[in-house]
Amino acid sequence: MYIVSIDEALCSGCDSCADGCPARILSFDSDKGVTYVSGDETECMGCEACVAVCPSEAITITEM
Ligand code: SF4
Ligand code: SF4
Repeated sequence: MYIVSIDEALCSGCDSCADGCPARILSFDSDKGVTYVSGDETECMGCEACVAVCPSEAITITEM
């Protein structure tokens, strides 16, 4: 099982990660200007597509 977390302090709000997530658990918060884990973080598949596109190294995937 994988857990995804996003460090909002590092996220620049580029919104690159959400569209490519096959689990559809990432969403952009236009009010805060950051992307957050809007779904069940335990549904992360560990593909690291989000990590690959993030320019800010804001996303961490942890295998449990
Ligand atoms: S690792 Fe893959 S499934 Fe998990 S949040 Fe990132 S893009 Fe989505
Ligand atoms: S790719 Fe990185 S910087 Fe861009 S919205 Fe996602 S977490 Fe934030």
